[in-house]
Amino acid sequence: MSRLPCGRSVDDLVAYLVDREEDPDLGAHVAGCPDCAAELAELEARWAAVRQVAVTPVPTPPGLVSRVLAAVHGVRPRPGSPPVEFDQDGGRVSVSERAVLAVCRRLAVDLATRLGLHVRGTAVADGGLQVLVAARYPMPAVAVSEELRAQLAHELRAQLGDAAPVVHVHLIDIG
Ligand SMILES: [Zn+2]
Repeated sequence: MSRLPCGRSVDDLVAYLVDREEDPDLGAHVAGCPDCAAELAELEARWAAVRQVAVTPVPTPPGLVSRVLAAVHGVRPRPGSPPVEFDQDGGRVSVSERAVLAVCRRLAVDLATRLGLHVRGTAVADGGLQVLVAARYPMPAVAVSEELRAQLAHELRAQLGDAAPVVHVHLIDIG
C-alpha cells in the first residue's frame, strides 16, 4: 500500500472519498495537509472520470445483477431446458444449456484473470451471457471490461459456433 509523505495511505484517502464522515481524525488531518490535498484532487478527478464512463454506455437492466447473483448461488439451469443445437462439420451437435454455461464460465474466469478483473458471477439471462465483474481501482476498469467482452465473445464463437451466446459484461464494483 502506497503512503504519502505525511504518512497517510492512498487507501485511507480512497475511503475518505467514499465516506467523509467515516473517520473524523482523518478529516481534520486532510483539512490541513498539502500532501493529502494534492492526492485527493488527483483521486477525485480519476474517480469522476471512471464513474461517468461507468454509468453512461451500457445501462445494466434493473434486477439483472440480483438475478445473476441468485443464479450463481445455487439456482441451477431449469431441468427441462432444451439443449442448444448447432451445426458442426456437417452434423448437428446438441449441447445442454448447462454445458454451454460451464464453457462460458471457465472462459470468462480465465480471460478475466489475465486482464486483472474478478468475475463475481455468470448466468444466461435476458437473451445473453451476463458476466458480472469487479475491478480494482485505479485500473481503466471500463476499457478493460470492454476488452473482456470482446475477447470472450471471440473465444465463445470459436468454441461454440452458432451456439455462442451474446456476451454482456457488467462492471458492478470498482474497489
Ligand atoms: Zn496528509
